[in-house]
Amino acid sequence: MGRLFGTNGVRGVVNSTITPEMAAQVGRAVAKVCGGTLAVGMDTRVSSRMLLDAVSFGIQSSGSDVRFLGVLPTPALQYYVKNHEDVKGGIMITASHNPPEYNGMKCISSDGTEMSLLEEESVEEQYGRELPDAPFPEMGRFIEVEGAIDDYLDGILGNVDVESIRSAGLKVCLDCANGAACYTTPLLLERLGVKAVTLNCDPQGRFPGRDSEPTEENLSDLMRMTRDVGADLGIAHDGDGDRCIFVTGEGMYVSGDRCIAILARSILAKKPGRIVVPVNTSSLVEGVVVDSGGSVRYTQVGAPIVARKMQEYDAVFGGEENGGMIFPEFQYCRDGAMACARMLECVVRGGPLSDMIAALPKYYTSKVSVDCPDNMKSPLLEHFRSRAGDTWREDIDGLKLFFEDGGWVLLRPSGSEQVFRIFTESKDEATCEARSQEYVEEARRYLEGTPRISS
Ligand code: MG
Repeated sequence: MGRLFGTNGVRGVVNSTITPEMAAQVGRAVAKVCGGTLAVGMDTRVSSRMLLDAVSFGIQSSGSDVRFLGVLPTPALQYYVKNHEDVKGGIMITASHNPPEYNGMKCISSDGTEMSLLEEESVEEQYGRELPDAPFPEMGRFIEVEGAIDDYLDGILGNVDVESIRSAGLKVCLDCANGAACYTTPLLLERLGVKAVTLNCDPQGRFPGRDSEPTEENLSDLMRMTRDVGADLGIAHDGDGDRCIFVTGEGMYVSGDRCIAILARSILAKKPGRIVVPVNTSSLVEGVVVDSGGSVRYTQVGAPIVARKMQEYDAVFGGEENGGMIFPEFQYCRDGAMACARMLECVVRGGPLSDMIAALPKYYTSKVSVDCPDNMKSPLLEHFRSRAGDTWREDIDGLKLFFEDGGWVLLRPSGSEQVFRIFTESKDEATCEARSQEYVEEARRYLEGTPRISS
């Protein structure tokens, strides 16, 4: 049996790799591992309802109750699981930012965090087994729960300065990717007294407006509209609302790294401490964090890993360059709506987003994915290791080499695709490009079987 879990749960194409039969088995396995009632939620995808029925069938037949929370963002489900002691875990039916033909399941631990590797392994172990049906009197129930969204929004509002946001009279452009955040962020903005012009806020499961990943290419409509309507900023979510990306009033895309830097500075001003980010994060973040009196801890790539390291280090904030931001005072998971509320607070206190961006130091980054079969990933990584000489390095995830000019290159095999990723960063654009090209060419040469002898 292949590995069920990828970097962010179980995912694949519906009725091909993700079938109702396997969803039922996942439901059973998770119920068995968690040992009790599971909260279940879903995103807006057309296949989500079918998979809800399948997952529920698995949970109920194994003897556990289903608490169905409805269509809602993943962090809203996580908040519910965290706050209900009688709920032992959760399953979110979603494929996050993947295309409409995809779907999947994110499995949630009893504390509301995404399952650890160890818990995922236990689920996999149960998944491979024939689990007996519970005798009739012990069959689980399907209970529909109301109010999970209201509780979630109340929780967010209890963590931000509502009065100062309300009195600022902000106007934003909001793009929910026609996903689960359609049910929460418009309400959040209303309760914060923020005027919102919306696009892609119609919860249609085939994502007619744009692809659901909030990349710069996918947000051209939002960028244009934010500028044209004279909004203070633009806000974009992914399909399941755990990520948030911002656009300045001038319509400029703000990278996740810059967003982390701005939020970190504002958080550290109130509470000094540690910030946790994965190794592919721009050095921009460390510069800003150190200037603000904090320190940075690096982890492997993957939001569940960042969240767990934040618990371990008692960090004040953490995030990923793709727009996944984690606010520990609220919960240890990526939270798109909380990121939105915090950024509004930042803009109210620190002035226009574009000014805050302009004040940040400039870094150049390059990200290239080189096609690489799974069996060549380790040899290629070893090859880079052996030719690195005495360059200062780090082995947290892949190989990160640091150069004397402050730039770095991260050589990292992908965990989910047959590619080898090469990230390069420098304060100088030409250096960044030249270095990227050097390592990409070296990777291709090696994979073609003619490795160059290191000089
Ligand atoms: Mg997501």
